Amino acid sequence: MYRAIRIHGYGGPEVLQLETLPTPVPGRGEILIRQEAIGVNYIDIYFRTGLYKVPALPAILGMEGAGIVLAVGADVTDFEPGDRVAYPTSLGGYGECRTIAADRIVPLPPDIPFDVAAGGMQRGLTARMLLREVYAVRPGETILVHAAAGGVGLLMCQWARHLGVRTIGVVSSEEKGELARRNGASDILIGYDNLAARVRKLTDGAMVPVVYDSVGKDTFVASLDCLAPRGLMVSYGNSSGEVAGISVRMLATRGSLYLTRPGLTTYIAQRGALLGGARDVFDLIAQGVLRVHIGQRFALADAGAAQTALETRATTGSTILLP
Ligand code: NDP
Repeated sequence: MYRAIRIHGYGGPEVLQLETLPTPVPGRGEILIRQEAIGVNYIDIYFRTGLYKVPALPAILGMEGAGIVLAVGADVTDFEPGDRVAYPTSLGGYGECRTIAADRIVPLPPDIPFDVAAGGMQRGLTARMLLREVYAVRPGETILVHAAAGGVGLLMCQWARHLGVRTIGVVSSEEKGELARRNGASDILIGYDNLAARVRKLTDGAMVPVVYDSVGKDTFVASLDCLAPRGLMVSYGNSSGEVAGISVRMLATRGSLYLTRPGLTTYIAQRGALLGGARDVFDLIAQGVLRVHIGQRFALADAGAAQTALETRATTGSTILLP
């Protein structure tokens, strides 16, 4: 038997229930992992509230984790019991153990601790997708990053600094601003009001070629207003709620802008992309370029408190559960 956090319906943190379940047996192409650390990501909240739907209820939430292979199913040749592994985006993570498709996990190098992998894999791959693929930043450019002291945000600041890019980070408090600055943000804006005027001032009127907006509903239009003509709006999250009621003409009237809404699962759908991306993230962690800031650690049983902290903006950096 093992313990896991399941939901039987969508709702507030109270729907997260600690349950004891029979230990699963890995099927064909699957692996059974004993989890050493579990990532808590904003997407877990979307799945809990029902903004995103799970394939079937009841469901074990959680997308990210790291641990040790306990058993492998038929046709698994790349992994064996005892291997250290991690995964970024597979539903079913909030448990002491879990089964998972072998092609969705990666080998975890010996120098990367389990908690760092669980706090940094989904967010590190997201930062990589945003800075290297969605809009490949160039040295000397200035970018705008919302929630710069968050899990994805801090890694964006660190990675952008490494690439010679100037980051204007937006945060809700002085403390968060200080943290983002220490992690590589060049300029900090406290609060999301009046963004365009403040970005205009910081860029001598040029505005920015790209905005990375994870906040969603509350900031969408303000973000468009911060872009230079033909700039790219990257709307990649909904922390304040989902963006709705947008007219395509808004892009024309603001200078022929581009808009994209990327999802990490698409970018790492191919096995090679997952392995290559993970290698980049782990290499930069090993080199000290990326430092996964684990601001909060909770016991598995306290998953509700962990999610509450994340959705009330009480966290910085990454949040993990320890089974
Ligand atoms: P964060 O650590 O960034 O936490 C969310 C932060 O958003 C808060 O700390 C807060 O920072 C800011 N925020 C602004 N307005 C609100 C609001 N109304 N309610 C809550 N928070 C608000 O979370 P993660 O690192 O887990 O994820 C960051 C974002 O990236 C999320 O939106 C997530 O969905 C997205 N994401 C998208 C992926 C993709 O594939 N598209 C993959 C992974 C993550 P402050 O107080 O400074 O404003």
